[in-house]
Amino acid sequence: MRRIVIIGLDSFSHRWLEPLFSRGQLPNLKRLMEEGSFSLLKTPIVGATPHNWASISTGSSFKDHGCTWWVRAPGLAKPLYGFSSTTLAAEPIWATASRVGVKSILLDVPQSYPVLWENVVHVGEDGRPDSSYRCIQVSKGYLSEDLYEEYMRRAQLAADPLPSYYRVLAKAHLVKVRVQEVRGWEGVGMGGLYEAEIPIYLEGRKYTAATGEGSERAIAKLYLLIRPADRIVELYYEKRAGARLGASKLGSWSGWVRYGFTVEGGRVEAYFRFKLLKLGDSGRSLHVYFSQVYPAKGFAHPGELSEKLIEACGPYLQTPTRQQVVLCGACDVYTFIEELEYMGWWYARAMRYLIERGEWGLFYIKYHAPDFLNHLCAYMIDERHPLFDSERLEEGWRLWSRVFEPADEMVKIALEAVGDEGIIAVISDHGSKLMHPFYMYTTILAGRIVAEALEREGYVVRKPGGEVDWARSLVRPGSFGFNLAVRGRDPGGVIEPEEYERVRLRLIEILRELRNPVTNAHLFKLVCRREDAEALGYGGPRCADVFVWPNFGDHLELEYEKVTREDYAKIGVPDIGTWEWPVGIPTGAHEDIAMLIVRGPGVKRGYKCKKLYSLINVVPTLCYAAGLPIPRDCTGGVIKEMLALEE
Ligand SMILES: [Zn+2]
Repeated sequence: MRRIVIIGLDSFSHRWLEPLFSRGQLPNLKRLMEEGSFSLLKTPIVGATPHNWASISTGSSFKDHGCTWWVRAPGLAKPLYGFSSTTLAAEPIWATASRVGVKSILLDVPQSYPVLWENVVHVGEDGRPDSSYRCIQVSKGYLSEDLYEEYMRRAQLAADPLPSYYRVLAKAHLVKVRVQEVRGWEGVGMGGLYEAEIPIYLEGRKYTAATGEGSERAIAKLYLLIRPADRIVELYYEKRAGARLGASKLGSWSGWVRYGFTVEGGRVEAYFRFKLLKLGDSGRSLHVYFSQVYPAKGFAHPGELSEKLIEACGPYLQTPTRQQVVLCGACDVYTFIEELEYMGWWYARAMRYLIERGEWGLFYIKYHAPDFLNHLCAYMIDERHPLFDSERLEEGWRLWSRVFEPADEMVKIALEAVGDEGIIAVISDHGSKLMHPFYMYTTILAGRIVAEALEREGYVVRKPGGEVDWARSLVRPGSFGFNLAVRGRDPGGVIEPEEYERVRLRLIEILRELRNPVTNAHLFKLVCRREDAEALGYGGPRCADVFVWPNFGDHLELEYEKVTREDYAKIGVPDIGTWEWPVGIPTGAHEDIAMLIVRGPGVKRGYKCKKLYSLINVVPTLCYAAGLPIPRDCTGGVIKEMLALEE
């Protein structure tokens, strides 16, 4: 069997290749393309990260692999978590490899954790791009009261329901701290200095899954010593000179801090760093950004690998940042890019370390940074966006390139490792397009409109506090639609089985009528019974009783060329048009076109496929080219157009 390297770039768009190549960026990816075959791939109709990667890894669709963000299958008491390996119902390529005795190395690949297979070296988590499983705390902006209130006031100016969206983000990533004159320090000169208490919270899903509470549980208190004259903040674990953990000068990162936190009775050593972003002259007004706080051990399988990797590559953070961190003002765009860059270079170093030392037949990594970058920063490089500034285009591409350079390094490492003997694939799970400023706004609004309509029709019941009580309602959220609460099938089900069809058809009628009050478009472009959605590639035991295809964006996309700054004014999003973006909304979204580049023996050189293929064609093609059996549940075929087949 030939070795296979899969480099997954989340959200990477084929449209970025030419502008990057023409600027001299991504030379190794360019070489890969010139020496291999390229194809565009169509993603499923309701495509997104978790099910798209599941489709890539298994060569099957939702019907067979059953993964979406949250799987709310009919009959289930609790939703299944769609990034978990235990939710994946079809065989992934690394399980196939394991079955035939081939070793795999997996880095943050979706549905690869917990590790359920032999012959697998695993680093990272399950590929989920939000709060990490075993982090101590997500990244945070600690703000003095004046700056915190200023951010919250701005967010409040946005049109309803956007302020509630910002409040959720702020709750996750902003902490208000009290800055006061220093008091009770040992061995520290007190003149003109200030202090602030820095609480650290326990927020990893591992700790909060049962309660859902993270931000309420402070597990440690650290102390900032603020030196306004020097533009420096120092961090201490106790208020004494010998307890210093690190320091940051305005605008620059501290060194890495390793500190032992008391977690559920035990001690967890974890790494983080911090950066002073703002400091008023008086020293009382301040904004300090803290990276994710992530354990020094336990993120690799076999276990001893974690510390070896940290020694060789530096501290590992699982999700250092995401667009939401900037949108709520926890840090600026430049710090965001530095975080993504760090993540990328860590992966590249780890990839080299693992590839050179391990015995392996399959190496598979998913790098999520392009997705975060696109969501936040699409306006920097796309001239159609009203916030685009042509004078800053080159600066925009330079910032973008900093996030892609580590990916190009990964391609270089792959080329060096497998030479002309192995198969190298670079693949994205979906592409990228611009996001209309109304998109977030109408998406949030749509949820409210659906709930109100269902309540009016007696399908939904509310708790005394006003929120929907799904457990007591006739209808419940499903995967790509809605489920009915059927007696004998669903826990707490109330609909008699013989009433099922009548209730379901009425629900379909209700949903079909709903319109978005802002755009007047229907909320759903399609509402139908699950059986009817099979024609679209859906189906299987986890499909919802009623399938819906949301229509939050179509109408807006057609109008995209006409989007203006006034559209931002309409939804009251303030402070737009600066690259620092203290409060804003995403500018990039997912497109239903992904891409694949494959290079290796038997693969056509310098070829671009004329036909459009699907995500489910990727793994069978790679397996065929490498001489590995095709995964057991694969329904996709080999992309013969890419192969240099003997006539
Ligand atoms: Zn994605």
